[in-house]
Amino acid sequence: MTSFLERARSDIGTPPIAALQIGARRFSDHRAHAVEAFPPMDDMRDRARAIRLHTLANLDRYLAQFADALEGVGGHVFFAADAHEANEYVVQLAHARNVERIVKSKSMLTEELHLNDALEAEGMEVVETDLGELIVQLANDRPSHIIAPVLHKTRFEIGTLFEEKLGVPYTDDPIQLNTIARRHLRPLFLTADMGISGVNIAVAQTGSICIVTNEGNGRLTTTAPRIHVAMLGAERLVPSIGDMSVILEVLARSATGQKLSVYTNVLTGPRRPGEPDGPDELHVVIVDNGRSKVLAGPSSEILACIRCGACLNVCPVYRTVGGHAYGSTYPGPVGSVLTPALFDLDEWSDLPYASTLCGACLEVCPVRIDIPRLLLDQRNLSVQTRTGPMWMRRPLRAYAGAATHPGRFRALLRAGAVIGRLFRTGWIRRLPWRGAAWTRGRDLQAPVKSFHRRWKERNRGS
Ligand code: SF4
Repeated sequence: MTSFLERARSDIGTPPIAALQIGARRFSDHRAHAVEAFPPMDDMRDRARAIRLHTLANLDRYLAQFADALEGVGGHVFFAADAHEANEYVVQLAHARNVERIVKSKSMLTEELHLNDALEAEGMEVVETDLGELIVQLANDRPSHIIAPVLHKTRFEIGTLFEEKLGVPYTDDPIQLNTIARRHLRPLFLTADMGISGVNIAVAQTGSICIVTNEGNGRLTTTAPRIHVAMLGAERLVPSIGDMSVILEVLARSATGQKLSVYTNVLTGPRRPGEPDGPDELHVVIVDNGRSKVLAGPSSEILACIRCGACLNVCPVYRTVGGHAYGSTYPGPVGSVLTPALFDLDEWSDLPYASTLCGACLEVCPVRIDIPRLLLDQRNLSVQTRTGPMWMRRPLRAYAGAATHPGRFRALLRAGAVIGRLFRTGWIRRLPWRGAAWTRGRDLQAPVKSFHRRWKERNRGS
């Protein structure tokens, strides 16, 4: 697998990154206005954090309560230990019910599981119905943002894509593009056998699932087909409906700057006798896939995330390299913690370094997750377990060799001071070899005499 640096290098400065920067800036401006217009936001953030941390501390109890409540209203629950078990359950269910066409609403969890691949390998047609996800699917691309999958695409590219793939005349008018997508999707909703959705929040007390979207596709996916399968990350619970409303207060404001997303759907069980809408069957697949391991480890706080995307929008690294450079389902600051924690720190050891630790993510996070501290913890762990990237381990080892031997350290400072005298301005404009990456965009301060040395010289002179 290529490294973060290699992926980032090939993306920086490209038109998709320019498009993504505009979108991310717009989202973060909208968030700032929404927060300013809502004085209780700080209090709500504290409450949302307390709810999420309390739920995580009692997750086994709330999961059991959720499963009982959902089964009590006629739903089916399946606990999947990993991606294979989750995908297998959905594939077997689809086979058993003679499913041919499946419509999907947006779900990062299904991206994490590669559920579409598993279903398509069994000959089923899977249609993404969120506009952004549909564009990603038609373009054979990957999402670059957790709430706006095509933040890296311009409307001109989308117009060309629709012309090519959907056989419609070219247009880059957003309203017309939306109309084209709606016309394309409507008959597919009406003929689909199964709808698959994600879950934003699950309520333990009532067995309800809450799905938040800005397009009507979520409602059609979960109510038009005869079977609804909801994929739920095991951590995405709250105890009660009242707790859910607190999360909703901070979610949309942090994500898009809206007071509430356009469609906030709360579903409790399948269609009951006499009800006009809804599926005959509702299956909720509760997916662990590494979450228990994260909960038991030092990065457990990241499971409080409500996937608003605010930390991506303000992150200077994400804004510069885009979402694909992170190489995983979850980009940006949240992904830099979550991906190595969920999967393999060895394989993803460069992601905790994909941050300047400026703290902007902590500043905006609606549940106040201390991402900079979690990133530092993971860096620490990767150094201790020797899984960190070579380019970081070697210089750190050399520094440790000098810093733990006073004689070597003083010699290094003296050499630095001599070298520093060569740069009259006090700044180094160009470094050779790997150092060139630093000086390409900024100057480096030339080494100066240590404070200790200057103190000695001053006292000697007085
Ligand atoms: S870590 Fe916080 S800011 Fe980032 S996506 Fe999760 S909830 Fe939103």
